Amino acid sequence: MRLSRAFLPTLKETPAEAQIVSHRLMLRAGLVRQTSAGIYAWLPAGLRVLRNVGQIVREEQDRAGAQEILMPTIQSADLWRQSGRYDDYGKEMLRITDRHDREMLYGPTNEEMVTDIFKSYARSYRDLPRNLYHIQWKFRDEVRPRFGVMRGREFLMKDGYSFDLTQEAAQHSYRQMFVAYLRTFARMGLKAIPMAADTGPIGGNLSHEFIILAETGESQVYLHRDFLNFDPLAELPDFDGDLTPITDRWTSRYAATDEMHDEAAWNAIPEGERVSARGIEVGHIFYFGTKYSASMGLSVPGPDGKPVHPEMGSYGIGVSRLLGALIEASHDDNGIIWPDSVAPWKVSILNLKPGDAGTDALCGQLYAALPDQALLDDRDERPGAKFADADLMGMPWQAIIGPRGAAAGKVELKRRATGERFELSLEDALAKIKG
Ligand code: ATP
Ligand code: MG
Repeated sequence: MRLSRAFLPTLKETPAEAQIVSHRLMLRAGLVRQTSAGIYAWLPAGLRVLRNVGQIVREEQDRAGAQEILMPTIQSADLWRQSGRYDDYGKEMLRITDRHDREMLYGPTNEEMVTDIFKSYARSYRDLPRNLYHIQWKFRDEVRPRFGVMRGREFLMKDGYSFDLTQEAAQHSYRQMFVAYLRTFARMGLKAIPMAADTGPIGGNLSHEFIILAETGESQVYLHRDFLNFDPLAELPDFDGDLTPITDRWTSRYAATDEMHDEAAWNAIPEGERVSARGIEVGHIFYFGTKYSASMGLSVPGPDGKPVHPEMGSYGIGVSRLLGALIEASHDDNGIIWPDSVAPWKVSILNLKPGDAGTDALCGQLYAALPDQALLDDRDERPGAKFADADLMGMPWQAIIGPRGAAAGKVELKRRATGERFELSLEDALAKIKG
């Protein structure tokens, strides 16, 4: 993309309405535009990151054996009456009436709908296990939308649902998602720590929130300091095997959100090993048994012919929230520092003197060799403005090319995260960028 023709509006001023750094940077870097309270339009650079994040989520869901579907945003109130949640959900649910006076709603989540869909096709226990997910917009009429996409009203979520014959099988599905989540966040360069979360009426230890530590996080969390040294990608799991060694390792130390905090267990940990911090919830997994299969009338004949309600779990990831979390975790005073795996473009090419034949030619060669991976700053602007925008937008690499370098056939490559600089030939620069 050539900046001279791109729609990448950056702001020099700090927007007054933004209270936290990720929100400020998302507005300044032109990633999103608020259109109503808690509702955002995604501009080109923001949309590219949103897609990259979604793609990592998708690849790890697929790897774990889940299958992608796409359910609608608008749902019928009748479905929610079957589970009893239509009234329970309260004011967070956006209720809509169509022209025939039928009650509809903009889905805040999809347990009812997916259970109803699965019910239409499941004929016997042989149709189990199954895990279905989608990446779709949700609406929750939050009382206090804030922090930009972090707590929006309309937001993009990956939500998945597993159906199993037995409790043990359901727990295996849960562990598959647990491991898939560790991998997903690690691939984005994030350390998300699974923490015991409120399981509601089911009880047991089978709900975890995946939390990224950040000062601006909305959750208060308590954890053992060992977690800070755990490496999620250290042991790559084979999803068909026994996953308990991995999940046991991650649940062997104390880590809990405020709601689940257990003072006695906490005080038993030596003081120097305790970390209490703020965190951002980026994912939440849940095993809830037959709550929806029973209330929505989903049952299949088991191996002995007797009907069984499948054991279910649900698994959410805040895809749009992750953009805020990624920026909270990776920025400096000058702007965003995108991890390579989610960056909108791999490199910003800075043409320091558009119109200079040698400079234009070298920039053009580099740009042509990186189709859809480079943002070329060919604007008629001062170098200082280009440096500032490149730092603000946060591509992992900057290729800085001026007349002197061009004459010598050299590209100055800067690594955004560390500030390291390299003087390289075109070929070597390309190799480094492609990594
Ligand atoms: P929270 O406690 O932050 O309100 P939740 O427990 O209501 O979240 P879940 O129902 O578990 O959220 O939804 C799954 C994921 O969707 C969350 O882990 C979070 O990452 C994301 N999410 C939830 N609410 C919002 C929101 N208002 N804006 C953006 N992302 C959200
Ligand atoms: Mg939650």
